Amino acid sequence: MATIRFQALQETLNRKPILVEEPSLRRSELYGINVFNAGTAKHYMPKEAYNAVVAAITHGSRIDRKIADQVASGMKAWAMSRGATHYTHWFQPLTGTTAEKHDAFFEPVGDGTAIDKFDGGQLVQQEPDASSFPSGGIRNTFEARGYTAWDPTSPAFVMGTTLCIPTVFVSYTGEALDNKTPLLRALQSVDQAATEVARYFDKNVNKVISTLGWEQEYFLVDTALAASRPDLVMSGRLLLGHSAAKGQQLEDHYFGSIPDRALAFMRELEIECIQLGIPVKTRHNEVAPNQFEVAPLFEEANLAVDHNSLLMDVMAKVAARHHFKVLLHEKPIAGINGSGKHNNWSLATDTGVNLLSPGKTPKSNLMFLTFFINTIKAVHDYADLLRASIASAGNDHRLGANEAPPAIISAFIGQQLTAVLDELENVTDGNLSPEEKTELKLNVVGKIPEILLDNTDRNRTSPFAFTGNKFEFRAVGSSANCAKPMMVLNTIMAETLRKFKKDVDALIEGKGLKKDDAIFNVLREYIKASKKVRFEGDGYSDEWVEEAEKRGLSNFKTTPEALKVQVAKETIRLFETHQVMNKIEVEARYEIELEEYIKRVQIEGRILGDIVTNHVIPTAIAYQNTLIQNVRGLKAIFESDFEQYAVQQIELIKEISGHIGKIKTFVDEMVEERKKANVIAHAEERAEAYCHHVKPYFDQIKYHCDKLELLVDDELWPLTKTRELLFTR
Ligand code: ADP
Ligand code: MG
Repeated sequence: MATIRFQALQETLNRKPILVEEPSLRRSELYGINVFNAGTAKHYMPKEAYNAVVAAITHGSRIDRKIADQVASGMKAWAMSRGATHYTHWFQPLTGTTAEKHDAFFEPVGDGTAIDKFDGGQLVQQEPDASSFPSGGIRNTFEARGYTAWDPTSPAFVMGTTLCIPTVFVSYTGEALDNKTPLLRALQSVDQAATEVARYFDKNVNKVISTLGWEQEYFLVDTALAASRPDLVMSGRLLLGHSAAKGQQLEDHYFGSIPDRALAFMRELEIECIQLGIPVKTRHNEVAPNQFEVAPLFEEANLAVDHNSLLMDVMAKVAARHHFKVLLHEKPIAGINGSGKHNNWSLATDTGVNLLSPGKTPKSNLMFLTFFINTIKAVHDYADLLRASIASAGNDHRLGANEAPPAIISAFIGQQLTAVLDELENVTDGNLSPEEKTELKLNVVGKIPEILLDNTDRNRTSPFAFTGNKFEFRAVGSSANCAKPMMVLNTIMAETLRKFKKDVDALIEGKGLKKDDAIFNVLREYIKASKKVRFEGDGYSDEWVEEAEKRGLSNFKTTPEALKVQVAKETIRLFETHQVMNKIEVEARYEIELEEYIKRVQIEGRILGDIVTNHVIPTAIAYQNTLIQNVRGLKAIFESDFEQYAVQQIELIKEISGHIGKIKTFVDEMVEERKKANVIAHAEERAEAYCHHVKPYFDQIKYHCDKLELLVDDELWPLTKTRELLFTR
């Protein structure tokens, strides 16, 4: 008897929504209550310390030890008032998750009593024994340890009873071992480059920040049902399982009324998030059954990245209280939509202007166009690097499949802006005539509506779409840490803007062009040079795949292929120029990502082998034995006549044997390929072997197992079925 499956179904059917009481405080009052934000910090530290922290945030200036002591003391007092007993340096190692190691404030002083201690030293730097995190060979375990160092730009927060201090994680020799460090460096570089360009238009601009608003998609599955599927537990996705008769074809889930249990989970999640300062605002059903989305208001990119990492962590905890497992895998269930994490991105000045939002005047519109066109140029020039920034074993299943953007990077900008760029493509070489300038200002640049938002077509099939006042990078995977795509996007933007500034200055100084004319001239060239990356049609269509190939755009379908560009000469030059990463760091990351890919596919291969050999085949044989018994019985009753009564049964017996035979052969071959792959020393080749020689067996094995699922008695089938996972509530 398939007991685990039926127990799980029973348990799920018996569940009631967990009652979540709305807190007595309104959400606006709860917001940030567990965050040591600027408003709170003011009350807990001397003015001098407060100003030093603000300066560190805005100008990146250093905080000396005395000031750090004052900050630590204020932070401790506040944290203890919020119930904290411990503190931790909270960081994002290259495992993609978050890491924390708690230490108590409490410290005995030697006379039998104790004090609560937390000083500047403990705030600023720690040396966790974190030798087991991936370092790509940068940090030899015995030679140098990793350090965590306070990131004052992301405020500390109390989670549960622990004060969490966001930190970077670097090696003894200063190399980044985390996701945050290169991101911070990229943000600094884009700040410099964008500020200089913005100052062509407005001398008051002194700083540009990058903004990020992510939208997190996820599935909810009952914990009992999830636990009954070893593949889900171990690899985060179903490796087997026939598609449910009803999936998402009726489109009855999207924006539908949220199921009670899910809603209870969301409410508790939101209450927790709000207290942690994560400004979650939107919740809704997504397209696939049991698929949902949560999205906050956008924030400064580094903070938004921290908040997304924190959210993924909090989600899992809250879900457990509601007997749910959150699936963040990009394609947990074949045949229905996967999950993404759209990264809405823009740049904003310290004067409060969104640089990707059209303005009120021709001048502000020219500034908008400058940043807009530079973004498209950056995407064009570094499309492959952007593709690499979202590559993962999980995302490979999503890109180009069922309602997900393709692996081809292109940008969508909508009809109106296409028309504007077409006009700009024809501006005069050199100085523009006064008439032409007037025409441009009045009828082209001046005609860009201030509010494009409502007018932009929403092309949901583009991996990189302009949506009125921001670009939406839609190819990011749901389980990804946004730091990597954000680091790449901001670096390529910094590079492009820097080049733009150089090109414009060269025309002004070298050729004596007026500033606006020089800008128009360079924009014209950038529009021409980046044209091929623009695509307004259906990104999901086969025609686009063909068309993209004709245009010479890359279509890297797998992670090993996509990652290669990360160690290309030009990539290393790019990252070194902007001091985002040096060659060692770039190469280490490449190594780590390849290893991660290999391990994920390897784990899937192993678990698939297990399930098939220990669950599927024995079950199929058990059912086949019942059939054989039946045929024997018929023979006993009808003797020589029996065959006419046993035709179907005999057919079934043969069919089952056929599938078992195929499965067994494929599993054996897969194991052989794995063995061969495992002894390949070079990570790049090993990843390719896993990708091209091991992984292809997965679908073949799945095909025959799914056929058996349809043949075998439901009572015997041990694995919770797809329809049960998606529709049992
Ligand atoms: P959708 O894409 O689902 O239609 P919205 O247009 O409401 O949703 O926005 C999605 C996300 O984009 C939200 O997180 C929102 O805060 C964010 N967003 C809006 N403006 C910006 C901006 N200037 N920079 C970055 N993100 C932004
Ligand atoms: Mg969106």
